Amino acid sequence: RRMRTRTRHPVNIAIFGGTFDPIHSGHLRAARAAARRFRLDRILFIPSGTPPHKLRDRLTPFPHRYAMVALACGADHRFEPSLLEAPKRNGKPHYSIETVRRVKQRLKTQDRVFFLIGADAFLDLPHWKQYRQLLGLANFIVVSRPGFRNGEIRKALPPEQVPARGARGASQAIRLRRTTVYVLTGVNSPVSSHAIRQAVRAGRSVTGLVPPLVEQYISKEALYRPGR
Ligand code: ATP
Ligand code: MG
Repeated sequence: RRMRTRTRHPVNIAIFGGTFDPIHSGHLRAARAAARRFRLDRILFIPSGTPPHKLRDRLTPFPHRYAMVALACGADHRFEPSLLEAPKRNGKPHYSIETVRRVKQRLKTQDRVFFLIGADAFLDLPHWKQYRQLLGLANFIVVSRPGFRNGEIRKALPPEQVPARGARGASQAIRLRRTTVYVLTGVNSPVSSHAIRQAVRAGRSVTGLVPPLVEQYISKEALYRPGR
């Protein structure tokens, strides 16, 4: 058994974090497009128990968000719900840099780790804990999202890590010292969790915007209803 693990093929794995309140078809389309383009073997969907940045009050309790992620992951054998950012006992937030390190500890050095992220979230990266180090730990796949120009992505990078424009690679792949930031265009899904919460609150259907089992779960648990 040990031999098998030692000699197995390198694995391409992506880490996909978010509040997932709720998970929706935009997340799934982004994940599928990334899996196709980068031949991903596994994608870890990691709902954030206590997000450092999103202090939106009344975030849906973690167990519900995790349950919906788990239901959505049933649709694809490469998708795995992860408890890596389940709320800590001490109430402290999880930081992506630590999550990436924990994932890498469980892998072989030859495995390739990608950090999957939407363009909006990527532009916020300079505010993340130890973001320079984070950029050196994994390759990034930045997925286009309506309203966010791909040209902005370069500006979110620390200047000293970015090669001079045109030095190497196309604008779709920005090579940093140790990792590469890939821009995945062509998804452009307009779906957002915010819009889904609003639709449910207003009594509108969200069919097609979330997987059918997630739609059922939202309805069974009466999530996102007025007064909640
Ligand atoms: P909210 O409206 O509450 O902010 P959201 O739809 O942005 O929710 P998040 O859970 O905040 O979803 O996002 C998790 C990750 O998925 C982020 O990296 C985000 O940029 C990305 N993402 C969310 N929706 C899309 C989409 N439609 N296309 C591409 N990436 C997306
Ligand atoms: Mg968001």
